[in-house]
Amino acid sequence: MYNCVICRYHEIATKGNNRNMFEKCLVENIRHMLKKGAADCRVRRIRGRVWIEPEGRETFAAESLEFIIENLPAVFGLESFSPAVLLPVDMDVIRETAVELAPGAFAAYSGSKPSFRVRARRSNKRFPLTSQQIEIDLVTAIADKIGENSFDIDLKNADITLGCEVRDEFSALYFDTYRCAGGLPVGSNPRVLTLLSGGIDSPVAAWQIMKRGSPTDFITFHSSPYTPPETVDKVRGLAATLNSFQRHGRLFIVNLAEFQKAVRDNCSERVRTVLYRRAMLRIAEAVALREDCKALVTGDALGQVASQTVANMDTINRSIDMLVLRPLVGADKLETISVAEKIGTMKQSSVQVPDSCTVFAPSSPATSVPVDLALKEEAKIPGYSAILEKIINDIEIDA
Ligand code: ATP
Ligand code: MG
Repeated sequence: MYNCVICRYHEIATKGNNRNMFEKCLVENIRHMLKKGAADCRVRRIRGRVWIEPEGRETFAAESLEFIIENLPAVFGLESFSPAVLLPVDMDVIRETAVELAPGAFAAYSGSKPSFRVRARRSNKRFPLTSQQIEIDLVTAIADKIGENSFDIDLKNADITLGCEVRDEFSALYFDTYRCAGGLPVGSNPRVLTLLSGGIDSPVAAWQIMKRGSPTDFITFHSSPYTPPETVDKVRGLAATLNSFQRHGRLFIVNLAEFQKAVRDNCSERVRTVLYRRAMLRIAEAVALREDCKALVTGDALGQVASQTVANMDTINRSIDMLVLRPLVGADKLETISVAEKIGTMKQSSVQVPDSCTVFAPSSPATSVPVDLALKEEAKIPGYSAILEKIINDIEIDA
């Protein structure tokens, strides 16, 4: 019976002059999502809310509504949404409809006594009833219908909440509210490039940055033939999962093996990982500049491993000029794991395949490599720049 979905947002509403840009971006992203499974719906923006409605029919087709409920939570910028019944601004119609809908909502609690409340919001100040009067009116009517002993009133933590909005042009009734991730619509900030390994952290970092409005491309490093094809396949899978939160990000696939061999043959063993990381950033920066990505993103978390001490992060960071965003820098591993589970990357990240960084990795890496030592070691590699240039030329792209 639902004939609209009310979409609510919060942070966008705090934007001053730019609010229009953020709202437009949000609406475009919802439209894009609908095209994939609910093309018979349209999106409208009306003062502080976005409304999804069926097109050319009275109520939603069941599959379309199911698709929306499943996919709308992945649209960043939204706080919550509710499938609702859109009605005229008329208390008699609102009451009749509430009484009609109520038994369906209470059916799941048959045999027990659920708690219940009505939450009304009235932005139409000409409506004859106040919000509180609407709430009392609806509770009374529903009690008459299903019996006043069939529920307890609980204004704070009710099992069942009936929402009622009365606006200038229409009113709406709904029972279910689904939470979304919040954030800003993807596309409201510039495109970035995420260094995506097969680990737990970097997919979460990419998700956090998309959540703040930046679409992202991905770059991954492997060391074929020292790492198997599965190393890259795993990252492909992760990129596909992450792409469900944005239009589409490309994956740049880089073979770092030639560089790693040069490091193995010429440099001190304990600094290898730092030299690998500096080369990764240099290659990623070159790709980002070429592809018009405005920053790099990594899954670094302070102190997690030897390459993520303050000293080594500093030395790694100094290899390039471009901004590096590290959204997980202050996150604990357990926090990151719980996000990875929520966004659906944890299972993929848990598959054990060899990682590029472990190729020729020292058994005891240095935790503090000063930048002059890194430069001195890099100077020992004949044709350093030419090696990186060749690697960049050979990059494969999953478009
Ligand atoms: P992750 O779980 O993301 O692999 P990690 O805790 O294993 O992170 P490191 O291996 O030290 O940490 O890597 C730090 C960051 O460097 C990663 O989050 C990622 O952004 C980047 N990185 C490391 N290895 C690769 C790789 N093979 N390809 C692309 N990026 C990488
Ligand atoms: Mg890793």
